[in-house]
Amino acid sequence: MEILKIENLSKIYGKGETAVKALDNVSFTVQKGEFVAIIGPSGSGKSTLLHLLGGVDRPTSGKVFIDNTDIYDLDETQLAIFRRRQIGLIYQFYNLIPVLTVEENITLPILLDGQKVDQNHYSQVVDTLGLEERMGHLPNQLSGGQQQRVSIGRALINNPAIILADEPTGNLDSENSKEIIDLLKLFNKTYNQTLIMITHDERIALQADRIITIKDGQIAKDEVVRP
Ligand code: ADP
Ligand code: ADP
Repeated sequence: MEILKIENLSKIYGKGETAVKALDNVSFTVQKGEFVAIIGPSGSGKSTLLHLLGGVDRPTSGKVFIDNTDIYDLDETQLAIFRRRQIGLIYQFYNLIPVLTVEENITLPILLDGQKVDQNHYSQVVDTLGLEERMGHLPNQLSGGQQQRVSIGRALINNPAIILADEPTGNLDSENSKEIIDLLKLFNKTYNQTLIMITHDERIALQADRIITIKDGQIAKDEVVRP
């Protein structure tokens, strides 16, 4: 089943002489449960692509369909709701809210939506992440690896259609990196959670099902690593 389709996606920052074409007519599809690594040189357009897939920024032209919804056809309010329910974002520097506890950070996408937390799903996510003992802590009381696990919890809490991760291990040592990648792979393989991840680390990219290489805002290569 096709979970993501992007069509002729372009993004130009700025106008006139100083305009930068960050993404140039990119199209591809992703099947539900796929683990896709996005690689490429610095400045090639990887983060721009991920932001457009995540509904964080609007494209200059082109379309993004997530689970058959044309996300840029939604107005700002609808898009914010769609994002909280269907897109899980994981960043290099965690982006946790410092004054909220671990539990509050993880359940934030549900609380902002005015919904009730599904306790079974919540417990399952928290147990898998090994955060049971940390629910009342604030982010700055946790190690980097633990903070990234909290951000994975927040990304997964709504059972989103896709998880988008931008260099999720970029700020971690090798031991914590391995732990974070193993957790993301566990959710990908066990729960068929679609995962799209930017990485600079070739060893991590080689663990994906598919590697897309971006160069100068275009797809330079799209290789299946394991079918
Ligand atoms: P990558 O993630 O591969 O390093 P980016 O998507 O961050 O690449 O950037 C692609 C190009 O777009 C670069 O030339 C970058 O300088 C430019 N760019 C990114 N964000 C902005 C912005 N907000 N305003 C202007 N130019 C930007
Ligand atoms: P890691 O090797 O996983 O990065 P650290 O060496 O940073 O872990 O931390 C070891 C333990 O100390 C962790 O369980 C972490 O939760 C705890 N810890 C780290 N910093 C703080 C802090 N500022 N307050 C309370 N506990 C902390």
